[in-house]
Amino acid sequence: MSIAIHQFMCLSDNFGVLVHDPQTGATAAIDAPDAAPILEAIGTKEWKLTDVLITHHHFDHTQGITGLKAAFPSARIVGPAREAAKIKGLNLEVREGDKVKIGSLEAIVIDVPGHTSGHVAYWIENEDVLFAGDTLFAMGCGRGFEEPAPVLYRSLLKLGALPAKTKVYCGHEYTLSNARFALSVDPGNSALQDRARVIAMMREAGQFTLPTTMALELATNPFLRVEDAGLQAAIGMTGADPAAIFTELRERKNNF
Ligand SMILES: [Zn+2]
Repeated sequence: MSIAIHQFMCLSDNFGVLVHDPQTGATAAIDAPDAAPILEAIGTKEWKLTDVLITHHHFDHTQGITGLKAAFPSARIVGPAREAAKIKGLNLEVREGDKVKIGSLEAIVIDVPGHTSGHVAYWIENEDVLFAGDTLFAMGCGRGFEEPAPVLYRSLLKLGALPAKTKVYCGHEYTLSNARFALSVDPGNSALQDRARVIAMMREAGQFTLPTTMALELATNPFLRVEDAGLQAAIGMTGADPAAIFTELRERKNNF
């Protein structure tokens, strides 16, 4: 039996995600936006929480830690070493290249500074699954709150270099507004036009638009397409430095 992943809404637009290893029974929560819905999801599945993998220190990713720990005192809280001072209750601090076990599963830690300085992503290579937190979204990326845009750009390049078949889980359901922005800077992209139509229908039907895949992001996410000639022409930056184009896109999105 292979990995089971359960995704559900927390707070207003955060995703809760549970990763379950049927072989050992181990179950990890990816981030802790809110303890109550996560505990409810665990109860419904009749799973036991063994690990919590935190991507970054923001409140809407960590405020559930205390509640999860109260319900499952032996659960191990894993998070970025570079943000350990900002995250209460970490049991294991991780860095680039570290491997975190979830039962028999193994998540590889990828440093992706930008949205926050110590943000990490977790990649289960054997299952082709990535938990990107607030670094990469469907057709978008997180704001560069704590690092300049070129730092965030390098982090997105790292994620974009993962296998195209990688399934990508993200911290928020921002897809509809991201699609609107993407169309504004990459209007001639037919894959993007098609995807925007599909997304609109999914949201209308109350469906989640995530996970996405890296292949889909490489084809439709403007922040991963700064080297595309059509996008460059559309924003009047033909031949410009890719990091400068990324910075311009991030700036435009901030004011969109
Ligand atoms: Zn955040």
